[in-house]
Amino acid sequence: MSSLNAPPTGTLHALHNQWPQATSVDDFRANLAAVRARIAAACQRVGRDPAGVRLLPVSKTKPEAILRLAHAAGCQMLGENKPQEAHRKWESMRDLPDLQWSVIGHLQTNKAKLVAQFASEFQALDSLRVAEALDRRLQAEGRGLDVFVQVNTSGEDSKYGLAPGDVAAFLRELPAFSSLRVKGLMTLAMLSAEAERVRTCFVQLRGLRDRLRHDVPAGVALDALSMGMSGDFEIAIEEGATVVRVGQAIFGARATPDSHYWPTAEAARA
Ligand SMILES: *Cc1c(COP(=O)(O)O)cnc(C)c1O
Repeated sequence: MSSLNAPPTGTLHALHNQWPQATSVDDFRANLAAVRARIAAACQRVGRDPAGVRLLPVSKTKPEAILRLAHAAGCQMLGENKPQEAHRKWESMRDLPDLQWSVIGHLQTNKAKLVAQFASEFQALDSLRVAEALDRRLQAEGRGLDVFVQVNTSGEDSKYGLAPGDVAAFLRELPAFSSLRVKGLMTLAMLSAEAERVRTCFVQLRGLRDRLRHDVPAGVALDALSMGMSGDFEIAIEEGATVVRVGQAIFGARATPDSHYWPTAEAARA
């Protein structure tokens, strides 16, 4: 199985069917090892320590039984795009106390209550209304949450995330929400088969982080860069990613098109 997860030549967005479904703990071990080897190779190309890159396996659309296999293979944090799907999975897997959840998709204020209950990390913060709603619910739960500010680096209109020029002012407001621990920035690259266009998005996020990190408000950290998915994580690592969010290369291809998760995906691919 791992031979089918061979390194990409450019990006793999056009090759979704190359990812076979993982259906056993051994499949997950092999896929995780293959992805980790690719992470290590990308780090080596640019002189980075692989310990500086966290692999976040993304389990969206996959059923609970499959998630349990991934956990048995060593996945202790899983990324989910949809708050309700994540909440449902958390509830049915509470017998695994060491399993943590990262919500990586857009959140509406009326779902903040769900996320505040169970998530360890939220990677798609892009409005003060959501920050306020999350903080209020987290205070009520007596919990804190690691957050990433999502930035729209592709310039695609309906993609979620703040415009790069709005991030500095946004960060200045966040210390008011004491249960949110700001860790860094997150982006989705443009879904393109052209590696260099994808790379531009990652370069932009790192540049923004480098410009802003020295005068962030007290309590806000801007060390982490969450960027890169199955089709482009090696490029992201070359450009400084500290978290890569990898679904299909670990779990197998998804039937649900990406346009279900971010509105312009199909248009951008064309
Ligand atoms: C689904 C998803 C990913 C992972 O995509 P793959 O192609 O499965 O690797 C990464 N980030 C976000 C925000 C996602 O929704």
